[in-house]
Amino acid sequence: MQLDWDAIFSRLEEQPHDADFQLMSCDRCGHQYLVDDEILRLYLDPTLREHALMAQGYAWPRCRGCGAADWDLVPAETAAADWSWAIKKGG
Ligand SMILES: [Zn+2]
Repeated sequence: MQLDWDAIFSRLEEQPHDADFQLMSCDRCGHQYLVDDEILRLYLDPTLREHALMAQGYAWPRCRGCGAADWDLVPAETAAADWSWAIKKGG
């Protein structure tokens, strides 16, 4: 599974720049999030309009899927339907 960075930048309405996008899942319920490890940003939904900062001193959001306050990110193996736009098609 390869992320389509052009599609992500286009949805962010940003010019391509240094980034480290990863599709991640909640370790409890599998709800998916996009992360940019370069700037420690956690995008909370596929519109990419809301995000949290994954840095010390910033509140960790409750999981949008299960509501847990104490959850971790694990790498997603396949994209959920609402994230399929962010996956490169055909290899
Ligand atoms: Zn969850």
